[in-house]
Amino acid sequence: MPVIERHWFKSLAHLLQFEPYLSSEDKDHQSQFDTPKKSTTIIEEDSVDEPWHQQESESDHNIANSKRESQEVIIVWKNVILMSILHGGALFGCLNWLINGSYLTAFWATFLGVMSGIGVTAGAHRLWSHKAYKAKLPLRIFLAILQTIAGQNCIYEWCRDHRVHHRFSETDADPHNANRGFFFSHVGWLLCKKHPSVIERGKTVNCEDLLQDPVVYYQKKFYMPLIFVFNLALPMAVPMYFWNDTWVGALTIAVFARYCISLHGTWLVNSAAHLWGERPYNPNIGARENLGVAFFALGEGFHNFHHTYPYHYSTSEFGWLFNATTIFIDTMAKLGLAYDLRVAKVRRNIVPKENTTKDE
Ligand SMILES: [Zn+2]
Ligand SMILES: [Zn+2]
Repeated sequence: MPVIERHWFKSLAHLLQFEPYLSSEDKDHQSQFDTPKKSTTIIEEDSVDEPWHQQESESDHNIANSKRESQEVIIVWKNVILMSILHGGALFGCLNWLINGSYLTAFWATFLGVMSGIGVTAGAHRLWSHKAYKAKLPLRIFLAILQTIAGQNCIYEWCRDHRVHHRFSETDADPHNANRGFFFSHVGWLLCKKHPSVIERGKTVNCEDLLQDPVVYYQKKFYMPLIFVFNLALPMAVPMYFWNDTWVGALTIAVFARYCISLHGTWLVNSAAHLWGERPYNPNIGARENLGVAFFALGEGFHNFHHTYPYHYSTSEFGWLFNATTIFIDTMAKLGLAYDLRVAKVRRNIVPKENTTKDE
């Protein structure tokens, strides 16, 4: 079998858990696969001491969990109502579409959903939260627009929450602590007040670099008008103007259904990819490899890998396999808009399993 083909087959087999993780043949394969491309930077994990990739210390962990006893859920009813309207509108839109919907509007909504997802994964996540690669100004503006369409808070807030999640995963200071169950880590965390530890410990996470990028700064400053234009007006205007869809069809499919489904794609990374799957890189953390999430979240489901090597631009060692975001970044690199793609020296099971860790 040709080398590339064989690699893909083995990767798939590994992900579907049909074969054990590392053979000596795989090792050779690995080094060949990791051969640096032009504009790719290979880094040793020990050399990463950036403030936004600091690992949680023992004392961080203790402090983050110190208020566990006083934990109290305070529901934010405004968010519950908004989320109910969104889900109700999406459900109505889908049923209405089945009766008399426009295929073009469905296509437009799917296109917007995928592109806005790229704004989150390639933009807010890999570029701004983790600085896993660098992007030129036109690409940063494009990604900021896509991230605005996604409507998941401004880039600054998204990255701040995400860095807190990485540093304090599975503790009270983790905004979507998966130890509090599927519902909380999926959507519940958005429906109640943040745990005091999230706010308190969140202040210790360095985010100063973010606002130094004018794209992030101005997106934050003008977020409300921008979200009105890109999350609501533009998605509705295109179907109504170009193929005369009704405002109800445009609103419920291109806004409600598209927004709702893309939110669930992102939320699965926080819930399913912290609850179900294997942990071949670091068995002592909650994040897991979940192929289903990788597919729906455009490549973000290789989550044990990602929490082990957060600065790796691909969030996976399998290249383009179930990883639309990596395809996008590689394409941008070919066009000269993305550069300095960072790649970790990947090793599996390098961290011994601790006795105190949770059960599989
Ligand atoms: Zn995570
Ligand atoms: Zn991350």
